[in-house]
Amino acid sequence: MTKLRLAIVGAGPAGIYAADLLIKAERAFDVSIDLFDHLPAPYGLVRYGVAPDHPRIKGIIGALREVLDRGDIRFFGNVRYGVDLTLDDLKKHYNAVIFATGAVKDAELDIPGIDLDGSYGAAEFVSWFDGHPDVPRTWPLNAREVAVLGNGNVALDVARILSKHADDLLVTEIPSNVYEGLKASPVTDVHVFGRRGPAQVKFTPLELRELGEVNDVDIVVYDEDFDLDPASEAAIASNKQVMVINRVMNQWRTRPAGTASRRLHLHFYARPVEVLGADGAVTGLRYERTAPDAAGGVVGTGEFRELPIQALYRAVGYFGSPLDDVPFDSLHGVIPNREGQVLDDHDAVIPGVYATGWIKRGPVGLIGHTKSDAMETLSHVVRDQANWWSPASPDEASVVELLESRGVIYTTVDGWHYLDQYELGLGEAAGRTRIKVVERDEMVAVSNQQPVA
Ligand SMILES: Cc1cc2nc3c(=O)[nH]c(=O)nc-3n(C[C@H](O)[C@H](O)[C@H](O)COP(=O)(O)OP(=O)(O)OC[C@H]3O[C@@H](n4cnc5c(N)ncnc54)[C@H](O)[C@@H]3O)c2cc1C
Repeated sequence: MTKLRLAIVGAGPAGIYAADLLIKAERAFDVSIDLFDHLPAPYGLVRYGVAPDHPRIKGIIGALREVLDRGDIRFFGNVRYGVDLTLDDLKKHYNAVIFATGAVKDAELDIPGIDLDGSYGAAEFVSWFDGHPDVPRTWPLNAREVAVLGNGNVALDVARILSKHADDLLVTEIPSNVYEGLKASPVTDVHVFGRRGPAQVKFTPLELRELGEVNDVDIVVYDEDFDLDPASEAAIASNKQVMVINRVMNQWRTRPAGTASRRLHLHFYARPVEVLGADGAVTGLRYERTAPDAAGGVVGTGEFRELPIQALYRAVGYFGSPLDDVPFDSLHGVIPNREGQVLDDHDAVIPGVYATGWIKRGPVGLIGHTKSDAMETLSHVVRDQANWWSPASPDEASVVELLESRGVIYTTVDGWHYLDQYELGLGEAAGRTRIKVVERDEMVAVSNQQPVA
């Protein structure tokens, strides 16, 4: 059997699961896999999205790392598709490619004032507090009152990190600059806004309950939001998760008012209509009260309210980015595909090009979902072999020579081990478990056992 060469672009969970499943399908064919990522470290949003105070989820890195440690998949970090490698390069060195590039940008929210200073996308803030190398090191945390728009888990992550006292995050891997920034924050009130009601929330019970356990932060819910219509009652009764969520919020409603120095407010039936500003900066949020429409949606009531805030975060979803020479659906932010087979403008399958993970199906779902996703894509990969590319230089050394000839300083699986040990060492020296390295140059230098500048 000839050895087939496969490239996977994106070393988040989707890319790593796809590589793992392919190697395990080796009975179907003999394949050697190279995994590329533009970040010097693997694991995608598990490292740069999952909140630092969720160590159990961050622990999935352990399972992903076991896949890379087996030694049958080569990892090339710090290699950007579209800059360091093109589709033509991949065609020259591989039989096929799977794109698993995820989604890192914020979805837009088109309301007046959204571009004022002090209005941010949740994804940018998440990247900052998770120590992503490509975002600025400082974050303007000077607001006392903040609004977070959205009713999913990312909104709760953002609200929790904003309201938590920085010292309570020292048990996590947060980088030093993030600790310093949060420590100086004067925030007192974080307001989370959902357009719909408590029966239509998108967050999960675990994430909600956790809010109630944050040190020196009181949760505030409002009685007016719990006057539910029969459709909402039915929605709660028919979904165990939503039932638990509403039980928790009802317990909070009946608790005596707290005395914490910070408060996290949950507002429902509140549709943001305008970010108010003065001198180019956020000063308030104008929103319309909504009411259930008896069909699970909401309608405006015509009652408008204003809340003074000095910063606003929109957590209304992530959005994928286009890749050079690969079709892109700019409405949904995904690569157009049928079960992972990438489609051209005429909906015809493009031979040798596949997609998996968030860039395939959009930015929804948990890490575990990327595994089932990979399985679906791979069912086609395995069947399609006859239509793959015939590379001119399929040998494993040739792609390394190409990267070196272009001066790309790439990282490897061994490099990740060095970086991992280095971060643990930084943590140990400060009496913490781990301190993340943020600077790209430092990550690359440590991974390649070069002196840190
Ligand atoms: C804030 C946040 C919190 C979350 N918390 C949880 C949680 O607690 N539990 C849970 O189960 N799920 C959580 N998720 C969801 C989870 O992160 C995703 O389901 C999962 O990461 C999607 O995997 P992916 O591999 O498709 O994308 P990603 O994880 O985004 O990986 C994509 C990879 O592709 C790389 N890449 C992109 N473009 C290029 C390019 N041009 N060249 C080379 N490489 C490229 C990126 O660097 C990245 O490493 C969270 C998501 C977010 C945004």
